[in-house]
Amino acid sequence: MSSQVVLITGTSSGIGLAAAVAAAQSGRRTVATLRDPARADALRKAADAAGAELDIRRLDVTDPASVTAAIDGVIADYGRLDALVNNAGAGHVGTLENETVEDVRRVMEVNFFGVVQTSKAALPHLRATGGRLITVSSVGGVVGQPFNEAYCAAKFAVEGFMESLAPVAATTGVTVSVVEPGAVATEFVNNIGFDIEQAVAAAGPYGDALRAYIARTVEQFSSSSAQTPAEAAAAVMLALDAEQPAFRIQTSDWARTFTGTKLADVDGSAVQGMTGGWVR
Ligand code: NAP
Repeated sequence: MSSQVVLITGTSSGIGLAAAVAAAQSGRRTVATLRDPARADALRKAADAAGAELDIRRLDVTDPASVTAAIDGVIADYGRLDALVNNAGAGHVGTLENETVEDVRRVMEVNFFGVVQTSKAALPHLRATGGRLITVSSVGGVVGQPFNEAYCAAKFAVEGFMESLAPVAATTGVTVSVVEPGAVATEFVNNIGFDIEQAVAAAGPYGDALRAYIARTVEQFSSSSAQTPAEAAAAVMLALDAEQPAFRIQTSDWARTFTGTKLADVDGSAVQGMTGGWVR
């Protein structure tokens, strides 16, 4: 592994941080990128504690110039790229009547176009190494969930994009995978910056449904099915390490069962029955 070079986006916290440390521990030369290098303290601390060596660089997935600069910089300094892990992403809670089209566009910008931009810059270099293109999607990239319309739309887009690209990329030796976490205890929920009481009060006819959704979500993130970032990052490592990784890799048995409900749900009634129960 020592000659392999992997670049990971969104490594200031959570799954990206844990994946960067795990990739470095595996012996890969690991370029851990963040949109604001001033926020690298937790990453540095975790790497030091694990004895893992990281090359920390700036990359904002919504800034095309920073994406190009980061990928070009890696090629200039290392001469190769063996894997890209598109991990950067951001949640969003809302429903159509209570958000602007601009809000939806912003969610798509980070979670979908950020992935497209970074993958496009990396692909020629992955082709040169017979490399891996790995994207942290979500179980929300398979099952549409209440008050997650924009977020799930972005993750569905990621899955459709990568599922379509995978056979084409494979003709040139590049392996494409998506990783699907369920609830993982990271900064994800805090970073949404959501004031529950304010949101419920502002939700008008959707207030009761939103309160029910939030109660279930809080329960999910505090239940035993919630994973640690390191547990979720293990699925990223599987996508890096396996000889022939699956296209779709869930991070837990819970995530496998949950996405399995959708993948077998030809007329949509199983998922509608399940998620309808979350908001009543
Ligand atoms: P997190 O702790 O909030 O980490 C998200 C990372 O993405 C942060 O490092 C954040 O950087 C970065 N980021 C946000 N916008 C960015 C941008 N424009 N350019 C570059 N980096 C950016 O949450 P996480 O749970 O680890 O999320 C990682 C991935 O897992 C995301 O794609 C998320 O959708 C997915 N996921 C998470 C869960 C969950 O329950 N936690 C479940 C399913 C899927 P800043 O610190 O600068 O904001």
